[in-house]
Amino acid sequence: MARAAGRYLTRPVGTIRAVATDAPHVVLTYDDGPDPQGTPLVLQALAKFGATATFFVLVGRARRHPDLLAELIAAGHEVALHGLDHVRLTGVPAPEVLRRTQAGRAELEDLTGTPVRWFRAPYGALLLPHWRAVRRAGLMPVVWGATPADWRHVPEETMARDALAASRPGAIVLAHDGHAGPDDGVDDGPPPPIDRGLLATMMLTGLDEQGLVGRSLSDALCQGTAARWAWFVR
Ligand SMILES: [Zn+2]
Repeated sequence: MARAAGRYLTRPVGTIRAVATDAPHVVLTYDDGPDPQGTPLVLQALAKFGATATFFVLVGRARRHPDLLAELIAAGHEVALHGLDHVRLTGVPAPEVLRRTQAGRAELEDLTGTPVRWFRAPYGALLLPHWRAVRRAGLMPVVWGATPADWRHVPEETMARDALAASRPGAIVLAHDGHAGPDDGVDDGPPPPIDRGLLATMMLTGLDEQGLVGRSLSDALCQGTAARWAWFVR
């Protein structure tokens, strides 16, 4: 992994897509929270396995659930920015993306009392002008290389199996502790009937069986290097 990713490390418009590491770390990321149902279940599972994760939160939700945000930080997890809301940014002019990202970062840093380093665009949708706006706002875009695709209406076993099949040291796993909806500026249908605690436990069990542990992105980067290469999605 370290050697394969190495040649991509300095691409000028790269987005973080993995961590080049020799440590048995998989980067766990959770999007679309905080959520009063999903977040506590995910936190319980992470605690059981001694894992840390990066939570890409929606600022509107963080505002409504500051208690959950505080709980994440107190448990040693990392808070990063997913957006003020869940609107697809590629339909938004780049100067407006800059303004939103600056505002989101500032409010999140106020709410958490910790620096925010990372940004994940809703749907991973980011074109070059938007990528530049995010960088100008002082954040680095992050995507993923493995996911349970937990927006599907399939059993948790299927989701966990799909995520684990692509999990190896340094892989970034995308999962969800919430489901963005009308309060977040989008209508993507009803949330899937999923037990987020069960899915997290299944994924963490499978990782453990492979000798892998879940780490937040910043924790993983203590023993690795960001592997960045281009990712542009409309
Ligand atoms: Zn999202």
